[in-house]
Amino acid sequence: MLNTVATAVAGLPRIYELSRAELGDWCVEHGVPGYRADQIRRWIFGKRVNSFDDMHDLPAALRGLLSETFSLFPGKLVDHRIASDRTEKLLLELVDGELVECVLMREPDRRTICISTQVGCGMGCVFCASGLQGLKRNLTTGEILEQVLRLDRLLNREEAITNVVVMGIGEPLANLKSLVPALDSLNDKGGLGLGARRITISTVGLPEKIREVAQLGKSYNLAVSLHAPNNMLRTQLVPVNEKIGIDAVLTAADEFFEITGRRVTYEYVLLSGVNDGPQHARELAKLLQSRIAHVNLIPMNAVTELPFVEPTAPRTDEFVRVLEQCGIPATVRKRKGADIDAACGQLRLHQMTPASSLVAPTPLAMTPP
Ligand code: SAH
Repeated sequence: MLNTVATAVAGLPRIYELSRAELGDWCVEHGVPGYRADQIRRWIFGKRVNSFDDMHDLPAALRGLLSETFSLFPGKLVDHRIASDRTEKLLLELVDGELVECVLMREPDRRTICISTQVGCGMGCVFCASGLQGLKRNLTTGEILEQVLRLDRLLNREEAITNVVVMGIGEPLANLKSLVPALDSLNDKGGLGLGARRITISTVGLPEKIREVAQLGKSYNLAVSLHAPNNMLRTQLVPVNEKIGIDAVLTAADEFFEITGRRVTYEYVLLSGVNDGPQHARELAKLLQSRIAHVNLIPMNAVTELPFVEPTAPRTDEFVRVLEQCGIPATVRKRKGADIDAACGQLRLHQMTPASSLVAPTPLAMTPP
């Protein structure tokens, strides 16, 4: 079990905070041949070791130096939940006591992990548990990778992570500085061997940052959280929309598609009586009609503190039907780990604050169903 493994000293930097090149430089600076960097990274990313001592083909002196200089898993495992569908969720306590969540989802041919990029979130989407108490801080590259590596160690020897979705706590594009090197490490030689096409970054829609991701020269997938087909409703649900506006988000997403050739996914959380009517579906279809786009509908994952619920199945089906009739491909996201508070931010929220002491936001004026 991870919580019983030797994790090295908590105050030391995680060794994978360093890129492959930086670790190579560190080796050379310490009189160690550069090729040792790849060897070390193979142990971490490929062979799933839990301590420097287990890196058998390194000289003992180097193993000693590594343990004095770096840590491997300084986070503390506070909770590990396994759902009836075998979805697993970890709640990690970071060195400064902050909490972060990550999830492993299993399907017959896929093992997808969902990772967090910030402690809390500053975007304030009214249906989301992650932002209820605002943004505390950005995660470091090492803190992002620790989630990946710990989830990877939950897998059997013959299993591997096949997909990464950056859809956990936080706004990934508000922390590109830490996220990009973390994703690079997964791509790099000796990393997890995950192609960029298997990685999806979900964003509330920050236009300049979307352009920055497009310019990385990598084939990451982009998912844009639209959630409403017009500015009035979107600003109610996604407050940062007030300063940005749907047009600017769509224009940036169009540029992303032009530059990368990757079809953009638009996420749309279905909130019963709020944004789930056939008229909303028609308006959404009109907005996306001229675009190569895909809509991923997410039934609202109930959060005790929040006044929103998912629509009934027939109403969801009707929404999909309207979109498809207008030629917009749409899928409804399968719910995973419902019995373990697996929706982003819920576990952290409930660990931090008993449900009764949270002040729920005022419910939105509901539009007629
Ligand atoms: N900040 C990023 C990542 C958020 S989590 C973004 O905005 O895209 C990934 C998706 O889950 C987002 O579309 C988010 O709006 C959605 N989401 C958040 N809370 C939810 C809930 N309670 N039920 C369903 N979807 C939710």
